[in-house]
Amino acid sequence: MTRQAIASAEAHSAHNYHPLPVVVATAEGAWMTDVEGRRYLDLLAGYSALNFGHGNRRLIEAARAQLERVTLTSRAFHHDRFAEFCERLAEFCGMEMVLPMNTGAEAVETAVKTARKWGYRVKGVPDGMAKIVVAANNFHGRTTTIVSFSTDPEARDDHGPYTPGFEIVPYGDLTALSEAVTENTVAVLLEPIQGEAGVLVPPAGYLAGVRELTRERNVLFIADEIQSGLGRTGRSFACEHEGVVPDMYLLGKALGGGIVPVSAVVSSAAVLGVHRPGEHGSTFGGNPLACAVALEVLAMLRTGEYQERAAELGDHLHHELGLLVGGGTVEAVRGRGLWAGVDIVPALGTGREFSERLMKRGVLVKDTHGSTIRIAPPLMISKEDLDWGLEQLRAVLGAA
Ligand code: PLP
Repeated sequence: MTRQAIASAEAHSAHNYHPLPVVVATAEGAWMTDVEGRRYLDLLAGYSALNFGHGNRRLIEAARAQLERVTLTSRAFHHDRFAEFCERLAEFCGMEMVLPMNTGAEAVETAVKTARKWGYRVKGVPDGMAKIVVAANNFHGRTTTIVSFSTDPEARDDHGPYTPGFEIVPYGDLTALSEAVTENTVAVLLEPIQGEAGVLVPPAGYLAGVRELTRERNVLFIADEIQSGLGRTGRSFACEHEGVVPDMYLLGKALGGGIVPVSAVVSSAAVLGVHRPGEHGSTFGGNPLACAVALEVLAMLRTGEYQERAAELGDHLHHELGLLVGGGTVEAVRGRGLWAGVDIVPALGTGREFSERLMKRGVLVKDTHGSTIRIAPPLMISKEDLDWGLEQLRAVLGAA
């Protein structure tokens, strides 16, 4: 069954992904079951979209109740979940306004448009001159504009002509950032921890430095917390680890509870207030079903329970993974909370090969950039399940 399903997918779908050879049929909590009835521990959690696990009862019930009421109005009309969602999300972020979209890339696009518009209408940047500074090795999504400022040839090549107006500086380098900012710079766009790059945590003081610099130079600090936010690192936002509040949070993934795509730009009235009717939008953005699920997600996050779990279990995860470093197979481990990038000694095999070995032992992770594997379990994972997963990791990544 597995082979047939994969062959059929390969024949009829574009090969823009290279999935592990497992065909999932059902899932519950931290576990997935394939079409052959084999069970796997999900240590990827949909790249953080499944922070609350598969089939979370509270989220399913919220979705089900909303399915019976109204699912879509478009923004041509108001609906009765919209205001509550925007208010609660703004409050959760300590901000004033929300612009809801669907995917992460759309939130990033929305932030780029918002920052440029703010630059022209508020800061007084001459028309067409707005510049946004981004970091090397970023991952912000896949649209034409976003890949224009990617440094990853796989993501960028053969998609030109590229959108101008972006300057790329090394991640973690405050001097380079400071030199790149000019009077026409409207924003600095960063991931507080670079996920796709291999869960790269910037040097201590970097985010606080970015905050200070952007405040001094009248530049918006846009934190792409699409993967790092909503509990993953042991705090609601990865920026919190440095006591930093950006001008704009970009959220996605877990905001939709693993059920519906929900993303948002969250900011002040001074920034999001630049939009006027008709200048930006989305048919599905802020739809009733999305709002109902996201409201439940926010209710769950407000208790702080998931952030605490991520912090506690994350310490355990990093302690255990740290013991593998220097054993011959693992070169380095990075990350924060329930999020880790594990670098394998390249001569021993690719991240893909190690991911396949883990799959055979019932653990699902995903490789990135050659020799790194990413670990991001659902935040609701039990300590027992995590320990079982760690046992498999030790078996595959232990002493060479
Ligand atoms: N920004 C970050 C930091 C991400 O990790 C991702 C996806 O991995 C995106 C943006 C894009 O999100 P989406 O795939 O929903 O467009």
